[in-house]
Amino acid sequence: MLSINHLTSSIGDKEILHDLTLSFEPGKTYVVLGPNGSGKSTLAATIMGRPDIALSEDSELASNDEDLKSLSADKRAKLGIFLSFQSPLPIPGVSVEELLRVALDGKKDPVTLHHELRVLAKEIGLVEEFLSRSIHDGFSGGERKKIEAIQAAILAPSLAIFDEIDTGTDTDAVKRIAEFLKAHLPQDATKIYITHSPKLIELLHPDLVIILKDGRVAAEGGHDLATKTIEEGFGGIGVRSEK
Ligand code: ADP
Ligand code: MG
Repeated sequence: MLSINHLTSSIGDKEILHDLTLSFEPGKTYVVLGPNGSGKSTLAATIMGRPDIALSEDSELASNDEDLKSLSADKRAKLGIFLSFQSPLPIPGVSVEELLRVALDGKKDPVTLHHELRVLAKEIGLVEEFLSRSIHDGFSGGERKKIEAIQAAILAPSLAIFDEIDTGTDTDAVKRIAEFLKAHLPQDATKIYITHSPKLIELLHPDLVIILKDGRVAAEGGHDLATKTIEEGFGGIGVRSEK
């Protein structure tokens, strides 16, 4: 379980998240939405441990009672935390297969990885060539997001965060990615999807919808909260008073 208590985070001297309190349970699916600039990507990067994000002294961030605050991003990844970036960056000269071999750190033998990647690529609708090309280098939006989904499936994280996995993908690709992740992420993983796509939200059946506004939790609710907010906009949603 991921526990966030009174979390305040800043980039440089700009405070972006203000006193957030949230908890995320194993096996559950969460959707986070909110206007542009409300702090969704910053929340994801804060959980992952991006080094330029500073937390206030009294912020609490723990995964299964393990304090994450002092752990670097690579240590958090080793604990099973996975983040798919909103705009994944290309790494010239490194293929997804090579990247995963390093990330798995010997947990899967290279022959098994090679085979599994090809099976997963076929299932998600990517030709094999993408597995050996430099990762994300010249990939289309949809191709990038499919490669991200394949990485999540191979790494089998206990906490998976997808920052706008639907961005730049057509409706068929969104459906394919959602079904792929539902089939391949571990059942007991915590899944957090940052998205505004009604199609993706419908396919995910989230257990909880969280709305961020101006770096604060403005509302929490069920699927109907997402539908209403997407239809009517964020104007009517107030900032939740702290519990
Ligand atoms: P969202 O993902 O909800 O659109 P972000 O988390 O990307 O929002 O951004 C939240 C706020 O933080 C915005 O005002 C944005 O300009 C600011 N911000 C994000 N990254 C940086 C940065 N590296 N330096 C300064 N401000 C930043
Ligand atoms: Mg964002």
